[in-house]
Formats: sequence, C-alpha cells, structure tokens
Amino acid sequence: MKVKFYGVRGSLPVCGREFDRYGGNTTCIKVHRENANRIAIIDAGTGIRNLGKEIINTGLSQNIINIFFSHFHWDHIQGFPFFAPAYNGDQKIGILATGRFGKINNLKEIFSMQMQKEYFPVNLEMMGAQFEFLTYGDNETLYGATLKTVPQHHLSPGGSYGFGVEDEGVKLVVCTDVEHLDGIDTTIVNLAKNADLLIHDGQYTPDEYKKFKGWGHSSYEHAIEVALMANVKRLVITHHDPDHNDDFLDAMEHECQKLFPNSIFAKEGMEVSV
Ligand SMILES: [Zn+2]
Repeated sequence: MKVKFYGVRGSLPVCGREFDRYGGNTTCIKVHRENANRIAIIDAGTGIRNLGKEIINTGLSQNIINIFFSHFHWDHIQGFPFFAPAYNGDQKIGILATGRFGKINNLKEIFSMQMQKEYFPVNLEMMGAQFEFLTYGDNETLYGATLKTVPQHHLSPGGSYGFGVEDEGVKLVVCTDVEHLDGIDTTIVNLAKNADLLIHDGQYTPDEYKKFKGWGHSSYEHAIEVALMANVKRLVITHHDPDHNDDFLDAMEHECQKLFPNSIFAKEGMEVSV
C-alpha cells in the first residue's frame, strides 16, 4: 500500500516562500492499493486539484474513483470543484461518508450547495461525471479491503470520523481533525492498535493547545500518546496550522522525533510505503 499526501495544511490554504517545503494545500491523501491496483482518496481539500491533474495526465483507468470524507468543513471539500476527473462524463465518482450510515440524509446537498451559482459558476450537475453519494456503516469491506470508521471529537462528538484500512496484510489509520479533550480517546487508540502507519492531526504545540483547547484539534504530543498506547510502528503528523511556517514545522518535527523517533511531519508530495 502506498500513501501520498497532496494537501497537509489545516483550516485554510496558505502560500508564500515560508511554506514551500511543507506545502500550502489543505487535506487530501491518496491511498494506492498496489495488489488491487486501485486508488482511493481521503478528503477533497485544495490538494485534490493536483491529484486530479495527475490522474488525468497518467491516464488512470478506474471505473469508479471513491473519495472518502472525514467530515465536510471547508478545508476538506474546497478542492472538489477543481477535481478534473469530475468533469469527465465517462468517469464515476463515489462520494462516501463511512461510519455515518443512516445519519446523513443530505450528502448530495452538501456538494451541490457548495457549487450553487452564488459561489461557483459550474453547478454539480454540469460537472459531467456520474456521481454516487453513499453512506456506509462503521465496518465495511470495500473492493477487498476492510474499512473501519469511528466517530471523533471535533468540536462535537462525531464531528469528524477516523478511518482504519486493512489490506495486503498491513494496517493504515487516518485520524485528522480529532481532539482528545479529557485524556486520550480510547476509541482512537483501539482503531490505531498495532497500525503500520498512523496519520494523526498534530496542529498545535503542547503550549498552543492550552490556548486552543476545544477547537477540535490535537497537539503533536497527543498524536504521540496515541501512537505509543496503540503500539503504532510509524507516525505521520498532519493538518499543519496555517500560521506555522517551514522553520516552525521543522522545529516541531524535531521535538516530536525526540519523543517518538519513528515519526515525521507530512509534506505535500510525500509518498510513504506501508
Ligand atoms: Zn480540517
């Protein structure tokens, strides 16, 4: 399994030389299951624009491209109107909310509202691709991979969802936009148990977290605590604060690696083999 990061920024995209090395686009992750030769996408932040161009340029032929959503805050959907494969009439695009079966009855509206004429010149129907809007339960087998989903605390319980994918004998867990309000959330630890790779929100330093408690995000220390409690092999920290430039993130990564050597801060364009 290969995981590639197309957007690692939280809250909103940023640009400027001081953000060049980590990148300014918001959350988008591609998961490539090599044996099944399928890709899946997690979240459609502004990073999905480059992923869409890459899919077109490499001529990827996949009947349906599924995009799994952790939640629908701006920084996780804002790139969707710029996802080139969604303008291909022969392409099926799956918009998937897992872990929320029966809880969302307006999944299509979330995306059509974002593209209504006051906000964007092209509406959802005009894009052209064949969309499927699907909600699934919290334990599914999709194209041969097991997908577990848990509600996370993100401003409210169930304000976002974390994913665990098991396939090809390896386990990948993605928990972005998650807060551990009163001690580490054992639901997240259980999801991450023995994961080969955990991708976890680490927007704040421990000092910053004291100021931003209740804002729905973790400090890198929380991410490390989860990794240690869950016996995770490798940790990638993501959802970087828009106020943190490259030098600041280097320093955070350095502190993080003192506590958990097998950890790294996500960079745009970074690919990790799991
Ligand atoms: Zn976010």
